[in-house]
Amino acid sequence: MSSCEEYHRRTAVTRLAVSEPDATVLRQTVSEWKEGCQIAVDMAWDHCQSKSDLQRLAYDTIRDQTELGSQHAILACHQAADNIASCIAQRNAGQEVSKPNYTSPTVAYDSRTMTLYRDAEQVSLTTSGDRSRVRADLVLPPDEDGYQDQYLDSDEWELAESTLHHRGGEWYLHIGFRKLKPERQTTENGTVLGVDLGVSQIAVTSTAGFYSAGKLNHERREFDRLRRSLQAHGSRNAHRTLESVGEKEGEYVKHTLHRVAKELVEEALRYNCNGIVFEDLEGIRERLPAADWHSEWAFDRLFNYVEYKASFEGLFVDTVNPKNTSIRCAECGYIHESSRQSRSEFECGNCGNRNHADYNAAKNIAETYLWREQQSSRRRGVSQYALKSGTMRLNRGFIPYSEQSEVESMDKSRSNSESTRMSDHGRDS
Ligand SMILES: [Zn+2]
Repeated sequence: MSSCEEYHRRTAVTRLAVSEPDATVLRQTVSEWKEGCQIAVDMAWDHCQSKSDLQRLAYDTIRDQTELGSQHAILACHQAADNIASCIAQRNAGQEVSKPNYTSPTVAYDSRTMTLYRDAEQVSLTTSGDRSRVRADLVLPPDEDGYQDQYLDSDEWELAESTLHHRGGEWYLHIGFRKLKPERQTTENGTVLGVDLGVSQIAVTSTAGFYSAGKLNHERREFDRLRRSLQAHGSRNAHRTLESVGEKEGEYVKHTLHRVAKELVEEALRYNCNGIVFEDLEGIRERLPAADWHSEWAFDRLFNYVEYKASFEGLFVDTVNPKNTSIRCAECGYIHESSRQSRSEFECGNCGNRNHADYNAAKNIAETYLWREQQSSRRRGVSQYALKSGTMRLNRGFIPYSEQSEVESMDKSRSNSESTRMSDHGRDS
């Protein structure tokens, strides 16, 4: 899972003028790069798709066995992690996948391994080994209005992940650019919605919106049963039927996740939020013992769908470190393992606050975001998170919606969601 995606991305393709000695160096770099990616995939295949885990696993070996520099060794790990993650997603959608083989003549670059000289229309690229960088002219179309210029000539577009390609004897650079997405106008009192992800409740919001995974999990078990019985009978058409079961399951899951994502964005808008905050998805499978590849894939998808839908509404989507969010009391701040009574029950050992564990966690996720926002250099002007009946601020505490004139009008439009609701301070009886 990538961290928050707040950028528009574009790619400008250009040919490079490369001298013969430089081309030799770049060909060697391509070969080392392919080997680095292959080492990473071979070491991590099937069991590791997180960039940081993969880096820990394969970085030293890549540095030992190839001539890639440190940053390119890291990029090779990240490349392999992306490829494994997409294989796993395809497999979970019922498609057959095999371990990637790095045969295409490409090398990934980022802003640490390449420098773009916009005015000179040149680029310098890190190469393998101890060789210095290769500097090459961009061969842009003669037409001044080539689409590449709108990115190259504009300060708004900053350099992002790029790829060098060698094809037909020529070198091409796919230069990645990114630009911050516009955000909803935030005031100093901007609001976020906290969202906790889980196995039995796929999502629970700080406004007490519960999105059950019950039906989804039930359907998946049904698909599994169908698959097993097809495999057992092994008819001539079994393979094709299995494939179609996989497709149907994939479609069903995607449809469900799209619906939940849509409702989460609607929930954020209903409560006048400026953004939606999730926990970091990296390592979520280790944190949720009942989660499997399916769940991890589903969380990843859900996050991406929310991000996509939120971008149209000008809402930002961000993630926070989930440390302690499941064992901290959102009412008094007391942190203890024993407060988490079971998967769904939370009872604070200090103040006695009893609540649904995921709901308590959703509030903590939102609060963690507020703390981080206070320390961040790039502030969004967010100072509170949304609850069902008011907002919570770090310093001033709970403020009911009835005391907030600017949000009064929204009361009328609130609460037409199908999801189950609970009171802010405990279980509804
Ligand atoms: Zn407490």
